[in-house]
Amino acid sequence: MTVTTPAEAPVGPVAAAPVLAASELAELLTALQSSGLRVEVPLAARAGGAGPADAGMLYVEGVQTTVPTTAAYVQDSPYALRGEDDGSWAVYRGDERLAGAALAPRPRYYDLTTADGIPYHQIALLHLDSVASTVLQTCAYWGNDDQCTFCGIGVTLAAGRTIAKKTPAMLAEVALAAKELDGAVDATLTTGSTATPDRGAMYVGRCGEAVKEASGLPVQVQFEPPADLDVIDRVADMGIDSVGIHVETFDPAVLARVAPGKARWGIEAYFGAWERAVRAFGAGQVSTYVILGMGEDEKTTVDGCKRAIDMGVYPFIVPLRPVPGSLMQDLLPPPKEAVEAVYRQVVPYLAQKGMSAAGVAAGCARCQACSGMGAFERSDGGMREGRPSLPLVLDRH
Ligand code: SF4
Repeated sequence: MTVTTPAEAPVGPVAAAPVLAASELAELLTALQSSGLRVEVPLAARAGGAGPADAGMLYVEGVQTTVPTTAAYVQDSPYALRGEDDGSWAVYRGDERLAGAALAPRPRYYDLTTADGIPYHQIALLHLDSVASTVLQTCAYWGNDDQCTFCGIGVTLAAGRTIAKKTPAMLAEVALAAKELDGAVDATLTTGSTATPDRGAMYVGRCGEAVKEASGLPVQVQFEPPADLDVIDRVADMGIDSVGIHVETFDPAVLARVAPGKARWGIEAYFGAWERAVRAFGAGQVSTYVILGMGEDEKTTVDGCKRAIDMGVYPFIVPLRPVPGSLMQDLLPPPKEAVEAVYRQVVPYLAQKGMSAAGVAAGCARCQACSGMGAFERSDGGMREGRPSLPLVLDRH
C-alpha cells in the first residue's frame, strides 16, 4: 500500500516553558526510570520486544522519555502522572508538582494495513519519534539455555502483537507512513540473532536499506558481532547510518549469567566488532547498550564504557527494565543513585572525547528516551569532571 497523505504530522507534544533546571530534569528522568510512574490513564506502552519494554512513552518538560508504567513495582513509586485543570498533565510526588508532561499521541499510521491485511503496527511501532521494528522476531537463543534473561523478543510474538518476519518491502511501506503521518525522524531496526555466521546482520541491513531508500530516514541497525567482520563493511555499503552492537554489560561474570549465548563470543569480540564498525560508520555512529542493575561491578562498567568511548563507540547506558514475561520479570530496576553514579562518571568522559547523543544519526543513542544520559549531557553533569572540552550541542538538527 502506498501512502500519499501529505506531511502534516505532529512531531509530539511540546511542553510549556521548562520549570526545572537541566540538572534537576536529568535527575527526575533518572528517578522515573528507576521507580516508574503511576498513571491513571493508558499511556502508549510496549509490553515486550527485543529492546526496553514496559515503556510508557511521554514527554516530561518537552523531553521525550520512556518509563515503566505497568509492572507491579510501579505501584510503589512515589511518582504519579496527574491531569491538570487546564487539560494538561504533570508529574507529581505527593502533592508537589514536579514537572509538566505530555502524552505521546496514538500514531496515525497504526490505523493502516498492508494490501495483505497486516496492520502496520504489527510491522513497526513508533517509539516517540523513531519508527522501530524487530525485523526477525525469533532468535536462535530463545527458548533454550542461551536465552538472554532480560529479553522479551518471544513474548510479543507469542501474544500475537507482531509477526515473526518483516520483509524489507513491508518495513519500507510502514516507515514512509510513519514519517509522513506521524513525523518519525529516524528508523531503528533490530533483529533476533540467527544461527548463521552473520548473526542476522545482512538481513537487518537489507531491511534498513529498503527503509532508507523509501523514506529517506536515517537508519540504525542492530546485530550481534558477526563471525566474519567483513559483514560489517557490507552493511555499511548498504547506506546504513548507524549500528548498534550490544554487549549489554562489561562485567564478564554477569554477561555469562544473563546472556550465555552472547557471552560465548566473549566481550573482546565486541571490541573487535566495534573497531571495524567505527572504521566503517565513523566515530559516534556505533553504539552499545549497557544495562545497569544486573549485579555488575560499577568500576568494571565505567572502565568498559570509557574504553568503548576511546574507540569512538557510544555506550548507551540504561537501567534494567524488567520485561513482563522475560526471565527477569520479577527483578526491580536499579536504584536511581546507582544509575546516576554511572552517568556522572561516563557522561563527562563522553563530552571530553567530543561525543554526544546529538552527533548520533539514528537509533537508540540518538533518541535517548530510555536513558537519562542525554539529559545529563545537557546539564552540568556533562561538564562536572574537568573542563568543558567542547560545546554540548542541544539541537541535533
Ligand atoms: S540475542 Fe538475546 S537479547 Fe537479542 S534477541 Fe536473542 S535472546 Fe533477545
